[in-house]
Amino acid sequence: MAEKPVTPNIDDLISDFSRFYILTILYEGPAHGYSIISRFKKRVKKEISPSLVYPFLQQLEEKGLVKHKVKRTGEKERKIFELTLAGRELCTGLFKRFADLVAIAIEPSLYVCAHCGCKVYEGGYREEIDGIETAFCCVHCAISYKECKKQAKQLTK
Ligand SMILES: [Zn+2]
Repeated sequence: MAEKPVTPNIDDLISDFSRFYILTILYEGPAHGYSIISRFKKRVKKEISPSLVYPFLQQLEEKGLVKHKVKRTGEKERKIFELTLAGRELCTGLFKRFADLVAIAIEPSLYVCAHCGCKVYEGGYREEIDGIETAFCCVHCAISYKECKKQAKQLTK
């Protein structure tokens, strides 16, 4: 049996991202379909089709991840969608996985402060100490580091 090569369709990938993003919008609080669409557009700088949003909301509702209330504003009736507890749990799980991925992606560009041990992504402070270029998160850590070194030297005298 010949194996079919896995070629993920770019549209599928993007729509998965869109779904993920719809969840993050709902995670912030209850929203109606139109507000999800406009917030998506504002933040992602890309149009999202109502034909993706509404069926997705319906699928989520069928799975018990989303519930809705009908709100009347004048003549119009609007469905306000809200994550259920199970929906919120799904989101925190997704965010955790996403955060882990981002951490993996930025890890190689991190360095560790020689004084406090915190990981620094951007900026930071470097100083040559005893002929060795040493990296710190900030100038205060560098000062403390030198202070500690000095005290350690005095103790061993
Ligand atoms: Zn530090």
